[in-house]
Amino acid sequence: MDIDAPIGFSQYYRQILTTQYIYFLRSYYDFVIFVKLLVIAAHPDDEVLGCGGTMAKLAQENDIYTLFLGEGVTSRGIPDEPKKQAVNQLKKEAEDANKKLNVKKVFFENFPDNRFDTVPLLNIVKVIERYVQKIGPEAVYTHHAGDLNIDHQITHRAVITAARPIGDYSVKKIMLFEVLSSSEWGGPNSYGSFVPNVYVDISETIGVKLEAMRCYKSEIRKYPHPRSLEGIKILAQKRGLEVGLKFAEAFSLVRSVE
Ligand SMILES: [Zn+2]
Repeated sequence: MDIDAPIGFSQYYRQILTTQYIYFLRSYYDFVIFVKLLVIAAHPDDEVLGCGGTMAKLAQENDIYTLFLGEGVTSRGIPDEPKKQAVNQLKKEAEDANKKLNVKKVFFENFPDNRFDTVPLLNIVKVIERYVQKIGPEAVYTHHAGDLNIDHQITHRAVITAARPIGDYSVKKIMLFEVLSSSEWGGPNSYGSFVPNVYVDISETIGVKLEAMRCYKSEIRKYPHPRSLEGIKILAQKRGLEVGLKFAEAFSLVRSVE
């Protein structure tokens, strides 16, 4: 076929229609394909405490994935067999909680609880890189570096490294969340206290956040422990009143590429 030959009328209209059809498909495709968001938490329950209301809200229009780096149990001084059961129980609770938040898929790694500092940072970075490459998230939500918990601190370092903007990077936004009984207990430190600069209105989803937290029977404490249902509600109210909302979750924005 001579590509320089003039085209006939029917072929001309066919080409226009095809272009229009592709244009329509593309706009529809953009519309139906959800943006992928990845929440990377050190332990099961951190995701609910840190951004459960936001996850439930964003899950209405995005695909949310949760990655847990640590098993979250074995530092608790229980014998081996019950320990295995406790790890499985916590995983089950995490599955249930994330189902309530409408999370698309939950991933579990098994770094040792409260001992992330016994693992070379590079090993943790490489694991996170694998998930970032596999999922291709546009935004990542993770821990604040100044938390009291060592696993939270190391998760922060590892995520920032794994999501660095090199090559064909997918992560356009990194948000840090606060976790009750860790962020406010970090005290003055070299990373500084948690200072939010992004607030998400969770007035519609605070109920779902509390429901999701109820799944973590082994993690909830009694008020006035911060990790109590009352504590979670009080923090959401406090963050809300800082910006004129009933309930909010607060974040510290690391990077946003628009
Ligand atoms: Zn934690």
